[in-house]
Amino acid sequence: MDPEDVRRAGQGRNIKLVGLVHGETSTSVLTQIEPFRRVADELGALLVVDTVASLVGSPVDVDRERIDICFSGTQKAISAPPGMAPITVNARVEEVIRARKTKVASWYFDLTPIMTYWGKDRTYHHTPPIPLVFGLREALRIVLEEGLKASWERHRQNQLALIAGIQALGLELFVANPAERMTTVTGIVPPAGVDEHRVRRQLLDEFSVEIGGGIGTLKGKLWRVGLMGCSSQKRYVLLFLAALEKALTDQNFRLSPGAGVTAVSRYYSQTEAVPVAQQK
Ligand SMILES: *Cc1c(COP(=O)(O)O)cnc(C)c1O
Repeated sequence: MDPEDVRRAGQGRNIKLVGLVHGETSTSVLTQIEPFRRVADELGALLVVDTVASLVGSPVDVDRERIDICFSGTQKAISAPPGMAPITVNARVEEVIRARKTKVASWYFDLTPIMTYWGKDRTYHHTPPIPLVFGLREALRIVLEEGLKASWERHRQNQLALIAGIQALGLELFVANPAERMTTVTGIVPPAGVDEHRVRRQLLDEFSVEIGGGIGTLKGKLWRVGLMGCSSQKRYVLLFLAALEKALTDQNFRLSPGAGVTAVSRYYSQTEAVPVAQQK
């Protein structure tokens, strides 16, 4: 997405809110927040950012990037059960909400009663899903035990290993610019002449490995490989490359046998020789 498009679309209009998906799971594109913050400032608009698939997998700095509303999900890189959406809103948002002249039409999306629920008043709003809250607490404890920076680095390293393997098999990545790639979801272009759906089916049936396909206009044109939270692990990268090679070979796709797994192994043996803190 181009911030210029938003600027142009918003010019001369009363824009209250600019919405942005940080890590767009459907395309594997990571968007830099800062240019959109600038556009939102120019338009006098609030900035709301969806970090459902990026939080914990790559840096999200709500205060430094001056995100007005930031929300995420618990079931992606945080690796807690689904069903919760951590959200943070700043004082400016609270002001806007309190100054509303009309009521919010939805109970669940109305932060007004929720603010008195989480504030000093403790006015009842809903019954919290207590087991989920305990699950989230434990998942966050694990995240902090590893360390946020170490988690970002692990996601990055495992994705770079995956990319080394993918390219060694002669496949192309969907996102050309490394700075625009999510670390948690990697988009791969299914090669011509290969039945991409059959590959996904086989990965699932034979290896219990599930990868995503393309959605909407990208149907049939994209594989999406998730290495997220507790699934961002070396053994899954190696398993996936080995399984993918078999599925491609079964469809007579020409590749150099063992090249994917070899490239992944080489990547790990090179990076693991250097302590994470010293890696560039
Ligand atoms: C998964 C995802 C969502 C949706 O989360 P649900 O809990 O399934 O509704 C929203 N945005 C992004 C970027 C996602 O990856």
